[in-house]
Amino acid sequence: MRRRRPLRPLRRLFGAPPRVPPALRRANAWMAAGEYLAAAEAFERLARGAETRRLPRAPHLYLRAGQARILAGETAQGMEHIRYGLEMLAARGQWPALHRIGRRVVRELNERGLNAEAQQIETYLEETLPEMPAGTPMSAARRKVTLPTHCPACGGPLRPDEVEWLDDVTAECAYCGSPVRGE
Ligand SMILES: [Zn+2]
Repeated sequence: MRRRRPLRPLRRLFGAPPRVPPALRRANAWMAAGEYLAAAEAFERLARGAETRRLPRAPHLYLRAGQARILAGETAQGMEHIRYGLEMLAARGQWPALHRIGRRVVRELNERGLNAEAQQIETYLEETLPEMPAGTPMSAARRKVTLPTHCPACGGPLRPDEVEWLDDVTAECAYCGSPVRGE
């Protein structure tokens, strides 16, 4: 018999902690270990499941699947996932997210020497993003805290300018929904 531990105050504050799927933790671990094909297949399954259940993490999981395929050398399939993930953000009207994540994808593709693919995404963003009034800040006010580079619950990357902030010091992991406190 396992003893039930009392809830920690942080968890009580945010309600029950989300259940982190073991498959998500494994997929992130494969990515970190350079096992890109295994990671890609796992992210694809997770993305399809999240899409069926209409979870907000679905586009982020497609983008991870795409990144894994590209790192595995399967560029065409990776680009399909990336495009699909970006289109999901657009369909939901998540313009600031599409802008920030889209720019990062373009940068990463260029860094890998995939300039034609980067150009495709660049064109897609230009055609899709609504006109932003000049001077509109695209990211929320700079937070004064530093987040860990990876989510302690699922191992996914945490990017301060892409995560949803729950309050001034707490961000929500895009992949598992766990609240992560900065320091
Ligand atoms: Zn997470």
